[in-house]
Amino acid sequence: VIDRDAILDALQKLVSINSVNPGLAPAGPGETEIARYVAGWLEALGLDVQRLEPQPGRPSIVGRLAGTGGGRSLMLNAHFDTVGVEGMDAPFSGELRDGKVYGRGAYDMKGSLAACLGAVRALVESGHRPAGDVLVAAVADEEVGSLGTTELLQRWRTDGAIVTEPTGLELCVAHKGFVWIEVVTEGRAAHGSRFELGIDANMRMGRVLHELDGLEAEVRRRRAHPLLGSASLHAPVLRGGSGPSTYADRCMLQIEWRTLPGETTAEVEAEVQAILDRLGQEDPSFRARSTTLLARDAFETRPDAPLATAVAAAAEEVRGKAPKLVGDSAWMDAALTSRVGIETVVIGPIGAGAHAEEEWVDLESVYVLADILVRATMTYCGG
Ligand SMILES: [Zn+2]
Repeated sequence: VIDRDAILDALQKLVSINSVNPGLAPAGPGETEIARYVAGWLEALGLDVQRLEPQPGRPSIVGRLAGTGGGRSLMLNAHFDTVGVEGMDAPFSGELRDGKVYGRGAYDMKGSLAACLGAVRALVESGHRPAGDVLVAAVADEEVGSLGTTELLQRWRTDGAIVTEPTGLELCVAHKGFVWIEVVTEGRAAHGSRFELGIDANMRMGRVLHELDGLEAEVRRRRAHPLLGSASLHAPVLRGGSGPSTYADRCMLQIEWRTLPGETTAEVEAEVQAILDRLGQEDPSFRARSTTLLARDAFETRPDAPLATAVAAAAEEVRGKAPKLVGDSAWMDAALTSRVGIETVVIGPIGAGAHAEEEWVDLESVYVLADILVRATMTYCGG
């Protein structure tokens, strides 16, 4: 039985604790205080609680409910860092109004974490233990570098993982990946009147941008994933030159490429490099290099995998209708768990305003999520 009061209380408390990721806002305090709260909650239930802190001030908490033996193990994963609070009126209010809980992180994803806590509480209090181990992982730093889930996977592997990022209670079995590439064109600085000496790095970058513009259209036509649509790319950052009377000696461009499952970083790098090689062959004065800044895989799970069917059946039991199978364009920690061979799905509550000035989560959907997690856990872990 889901203890609604305990879940609401946890959710409001979680929202009231400022856990802004310091990687996004320098004043962000990180996860120390929220980790203490979550650890206390799980310890009170009698779970074996461990604290991981690969970087000072950036702890994650893992609580383990030992199974009775023989079943599959499952991780319930929620990040407890949030983005910044600029422009928000009362970011830490946790106010309940018309069935919605407001505040930074309510939707992304403290509502989800409250549901995970409520689910494990229901499992403990039912006195009916699952056969396999259940891990509740409240992780740091998903919004920047995924320190928490990365560290966690060094120590624990489970058979399955439910990443509880918000999905409107639909079942997400795929998301895109991304690759960030920096391209630098090199020119030669010279007085603006001395065309015979100067090489204009910005003009050289214009050639790159022209090629990328053509490639962008092609990439979107190339292939369509049934849940994710096409891959895409854009040129979000461009910097070059020092003043109107000087030939630009250097121009820097950052490219972001959003990839589909099965597309590799090496393939993306090769496409960018092919453009630079071609431009270099056309004009020996064209000099450029590219560097990969960060790459994250896409994620995909078969809808007929045991965890996906367990979650779909649980959601149908609770809601009276089967969840839709969906994909998400944004990246999640699901890619990390999936990459190491953990069968992963994503399901989370209804709400709005992730990373926006007004953020809320639908409280009823948090209760429903907790119920779905309990049922899916019993099916998947056995018992
Ligand atoms: Zn999130």
